[in-house]
Parts: sequence; structure tokens; C-alpha cells
Amino acid sequence: MATDRSELVSYEFRKLRAHVLAESDVCLVCGHGAADAVDHIQPVSKGGHRLDPDNLAPIHGNAGCPVCLRKCNAEKGDRPLSEVVQLRTSVDWFAGP
Ligand SMILES: [Zn+2]
Ligand SMILES: [Zn+2]
Repeated sequence: MATDRSELVSYEFRKLRAHVLAESDVCLVCGHGAADAVDHIQPVSKGGHRLDPDNLAPIHGNAGCPVCLRKCNAEKGDRPLSEVVQLRTSVDWFAGP
């Protein structure tokens, strides 16, 4: 069969990515603009919806963030966003006076 399902899915994904980035380019990890990729808020491997726009948010991809230079997508990895944000929040909290 010539039906390539992964091709179809990646086309859908590219459309969704463009849609998400058109709405906002504020990175979900570091909070700076100019995000050039999107990532799943709840990872697909953890039951998140791959093609649900509500499960996608802008993130800095391979080029990293031009402001803080973090590689947000690599940093987030396969963890749910809630975990990453909790991590950052607790770090901020412990760094306080
Ligand atoms: Zn970022
Ligand atoms: Zn940043």
C-alpha cells in the first residue's frame, strides 16, 4: 500500500505548528518570544494528544532562545510541562532570600 500515515500526520502537525506559532511565539519554558517550534504540553508518550492544538505550545527549538540562550525543547525533553514548570518554580523559590 502507498498509504503513508506518518506523512499525513506530519503534514497535519506542520499545519498545527504554524497555527500555534501564529497565535503566539512566547516560549512555554522560558517565557521569551521568538519561539520557532511547538511542543506538546502533555507528551504524547504520556497520553497527550498529538494533534490537539490545546496540547501544543510554542517552544524554542534547535536554535535555542535568542534572549536567554536556553535550548528549551531539549531541556524540557519528554517531561510534561507541569513537571518542568514545577521544577523551575521550586528552583526560584529556593533561590529566594
Ligand atoms: Zn524558551
Ligand atoms: Zn528564553
